[in-house]
Amino acid sequence: MKRTLINNLKENEESKISGFATKIRDTKYMIFVILRDRTGSIQVSIDKANNEEICNQLNGIIAGSVLEFEGKMVLSEYVKQGGKEFLPTKFNCLSSADASPLEENANIDTRMDYRWIDLRSDKNQLMLNVQSCFVEGMREHCYKENFTEIHTPKLIGAASESGSDVFEVKYFDRKAYLAQSPQFYKQMALASGLERVFEVAPCFRAENSNTNRHTTEFTSFDIEFAYIDSYEDVMDFEEDLIIAGLTKVKEKYADQIKEYFDKEVIVPTKPFPRIKLQDLYKELEKRYGYKIPEFDVGDMNAETEGLAYKYAMEEYGHEFIFVTDFSKTKRAFYHMRKDEIPQGFDLIWRGTEITSGAQREHRYDVLKKQCDEKGLTKDVEFYLQFFKYGCPPHGGFAIGVDRFNMLLLGLSIKEEMFLFRGPNRLEP
Ligand code: ATP
Repeated sequence: MKRTLINNLKENEESKISGFATKIRDTKYMIFVILRDRTGSIQVSIDKANNEEICNQLNGIIAGSVLEFEGKMVLSEYVKQGGKEFLPTKFNCLSSADASPLEENANIDTRMDYRWIDLRSDKNQLMLNVQSCFVEGMREHCYKENFTEIHTPKLIGAASESGSDVFEVKYFDRKAYLAQSPQFYKQMALASGLERVFEVAPCFRAENSNTNRHTTEFTSFDIEFAYIDSYEDVMDFEEDLIIAGLTKVKEKYADQIKEYFDKEVIVPTKPFPRIKLQDLYKELEKRYGYKIPEFDVGDMNAETEGLAYKYAMEEYGHEFIFVTDFSKTKRAFYHMRKDEIPQGFDLIWRGTEITSGAQREHRYDVLKKQCDEKGLTKDVEFYLQFFKYGCPPHGGFAIGVDRFNMLLLGLSIKEEMFLFRGPNRLEP
C-alpha cells in the first residue's frame, strides 16, 4: 500500500500513514499516538482489547520514533486533534528513538547541539518553510524577468575585496580562500555576455563577532544586471524582488506566522523611501538627538540603522528605507562614483541592513584608478581583466537570506539558521 499524507486522509478509506510520533500516551484501555508528517498531525487510537499485537509491538517505543500504521481515518467528536482519529489494524516501527536529550526549555546552544531534534517542532518547521517560500518567490521573479541562475566558485585563489575577513584554506601546495561574496564572478558573467544573472549561495566571512545578526557562513541572494542607467534601476528592481518574495510568503504563511511568531507579514508598497546619508544624519539628530560617532561618519552603524527604521516608520509609515550617498572611503572600490559619491545604497528593514547594492564601475581605467587608491590592485588583478575587453554598464545587490528571514520572524540569527556557524560553532 502507498503512503497517504495525513492531510489527504479520507474518511473510512483503507490507508497507510507514517511520520514521527510526537506523543505516546498509554492509558488503561487505550494507547494514543500523535503522529506527524509534513502536512499535519493525527491521533492514532489503539483499543487495547482488540489490538493485542499492535500493543505488544508498541511496547517500549517512545516519542521521537518514526512509525507507520495501516487502517482507517474516522471522524470523532471526542478527538481534539481536528475531530479525526486513525484506527489502525497494522503497525510497523520504521525507526525507534532513544529518549530525547533536549529538555522543553533548553537554551539556544543546547538546541544547536541537537539541532535536528530541535528543528522538528512545528514552529521551526514553519521557519524553514517560510525561508524556502521567500526564496521561491524571489527566484520566480528572477526567472520571469529573464535572469539566468549561475553557480560561481567558492574556492578562490586571491583574498579579494579586503583580506582581513577571509578564511584561508590549504589547497594542495598553496593557499586558497573561501569566497566572501560572488561579486566578482557575477560581474564576470556580465562581461561574458549574460545580461542578467542571479545566484543563491553561501558567503564566508571570517568575522570574529558575536552579534545576533552575523554568522561566518550565510546564504546570499545575489543579483547583477546590465544596461542600467543608474543605481536607481537597481533599487527599483530590488523593490519588485522583495515584493515578490513577501507576497508569496503572505499568501501561504501569514496566518501561521502570526500564530507562531506573532509577526505581521507586510508586503511593502512602492517606491520604498530613499534618503541620502547626510540627510539621515540631520533627521536623526533633529528628531532623536542622535549624533553619529566620528569613527562611523560616512557610514551607518547598528544604532543608525535602528533609528533609520524608526524614522521611516514615523515619516512614511514604511518598514523599508534605502540610504544612499555613503562616503567613498567606506564603500568598495568597484562602486561607480559620480562627483566622488558612490552610486550605491544600503537597504534597511526593521532596523537592520539587509542589502548593499550599487551601480558598478565598468570602465577599466576608472576602475583601476579606484582600485589603486585602495591599494588593492595586486590582489584583484584577475578581476580587473574582466573589464579590459568590453563590459556593459551594470549594477546589482545582495540580500542576506538568513538575515531577512530572521527579521521577518523576529528571531536571532542563531535561532533562524538551519545550522548556525560562528567563531565558536562548527558542529554539528
Ligand atoms: P554588516 O554591515 O551587517 O556586517 P556587510 O556590509 O558586511 O553587512 P555586505 O557585504 O554588503 O554586508 O553583504 C550583503 C548582505 O549580506 C547584508 O546586507 C546582509 O544581509 C548579509 N550579510 C552580510 N554579512 C553577514 C553576516 N556576517 N551574517 C549574516 N548575513 C550577512
